[in-house]
Amino acid sequence: MQQAIAPATKTTHFDVERVRAYFPILSREVNGCPLVYLDNGATAQKPRQVIETVDRYYRDQNANIHRGVHHLSQRATSAYEAARETVAAWINAPASHQVLFNRGTTDGINLVASSWGRTNLRPGDEVIVSTMEHHSNIVPWQMICEEREAKLRVIPVSDKGELDMAAYADLLGERTRLVAVTHVSNTLGTVNPVREIIDQAHAAGARVLLDGAQALPHMRIDVQALGADFYAFSGHKLFGPTGVGILYGREELLDAMPPYQGGGDMIERVTFEKTTYNTLPHKFEAGTPNIVGGIGLAAAVDYVAALDQEALAAHEQDLLHYATGALESIPGLGIVGTAARKASVISFNIAGQHPFDVGTLLDQQGVAVRTGHHCTQPLMDRYGIPGTVRASFAFYNNRADVDALVDATRRAVDMLS
Ligand code: PMP
Repeated sequence: MQQAIAPATKTTHFDVERVRAYFPILSREVNGCPLVYLDNGATAQKPRQVIETVDRYYRDQNANIHRGVHHLSQRATSAYEAARETVAAWINAPASHQVLFNRGTTDGINLVASSWGRTNLRPGDEVIVSTMEHHSNIVPWQMICEEREAKLRVIPVSDKGELDMAAYADLLGERTRLVAVTHVSNTLGTVNPVREIIDQAHAAGARVLLDGAQALPHMRIDVQALGADFYAFSGHKLFGPTGVGILYGREELLDAMPPYQGGGDMIERVTFEKTTYNTLPHKFEAGTPNIVGGIGLAAAVDYVAALDQEALAAHEQDLLHYATGALESIPGLGIVGTAARKASVISFNIAGQHPFDVGTLLDQQGVAVRTGHHCTQPLMDRYGIPGTVRASFAFYNNRADVDALVDATRRAVDMLS
C-alpha cells in the first residue's frame, strides 16, 4: 500500500498548493505557457503515488495472477485482490466480490446491458434513460432493447439542465425493468437526485444502474446508502490508470446473471460437453485483467481517501462558484447547465462562435478544455447547439487556474470578434 499524503487537520481549508505538488504533470508547460488543466471530466491527472505504484509493479512484481504457484504470481494476486478490497471499502460495498474489475464505465454498462438485459428483458418491457446520458449509457441500452424488442424511454431535462422528475414519475410503470441514469452529468455538471430516482424505481419494481463516471472524482459514494443495484465508474477519471474500471452490483443480481465473456479465470471446470462457471467476481472477469491498473487504482483511492473530504468538496464548490461568476461577466458568454446542484463542471458557449475555435485559442494559451458534444449528442440536440466548451475542475485546480481560463477566454473573444 502506498504512503498517502497526510490528512489535513479538520478544517474547511483545503491546502491546494500542497496537493498540487503531488501531481508532476501540473508543473509542465504547454505552448510556452504553464499548463492549466481543465479537462478532468475526460481524464484526471495522476498523483506521484499512482505513477510510482505502476512503475514499481513492473520493476518488481510483474506476473500473471490467480494461476501461479510461484512467488511473484502470488504477490501480484495478493496485491490485485487487496486493491479490490480497497475499492470495495471506499464505495462501502457489502463484499469485495461484488466489485468487478473491468475496463471502465463503458465496459460495466455493456456488461449489465448484455448479461442482465439479455436474461431479464422481454418484448414490450421498458428501460428508462435520460436526455443527459453519455452515449455509453444510451447505446448499450438501445442495442439490447432492439434485440429483446424492449422499449427505451427518456426522462426529459429542463432548460437549466435538471431532470424532469414529474415526467420520470409518469414514465415509471409496470413495464419498467430498469432505470439507467448518470449520477453527475459530464456535460452540464448537474448532480442528479439519485436517491429519489432509486427509491421511485424500486417502488415500481424496477432495477437501477447509476453511471458514476463523473461522480466518484467529486464526491464520496456509498453504494449501500444509495441503494443502487448497479454502479459503474472509471479508474482514469478517479486519478488512477486508464483501462481499468469498476462495476458494483447487488450480489443476488450478479449471482443470477450469466457470464458476459467466456475465457480463462471465469470457469470452474471446462469439458467439451459442459462448462461450469467460477464464483463472483471471477465469473465476470474473463482473461488476464489490467492487473497494474487495478493496483494503481487502489493507490489513487488511498491517495484521495487521505484527503479531507469535506474541505475538498468545499474547495471544488468554491472553484465552481468563482469560475461561474467570472465567466458570466464575459460579454456574449452563456453557461449551458445551471442546475441548483452542480459538480465543478462548467459548459459554455460564446455567441456566434464555434466551441472548437474557442477551445483552440484557449489551448494556444496553455488552457486545456474540452470542446464538442462530450458524447452527449441527444443533449446537444435538446439545446439546439453543436457543442460546448467545457471546463471541468479537479481538487488540484486553484483560483489561479480559473483566472487563467477567464483571461484566456476574454482574449479568445477579442481575437474572434
Ligand atoms: N459516462 C460518463 C458520464 C462519462 O463522463 C464518461 C466518460 N466521458 C463515460 C460514461 C465513459 O467512460 P469511459 O470512457 O471511461 O468508459
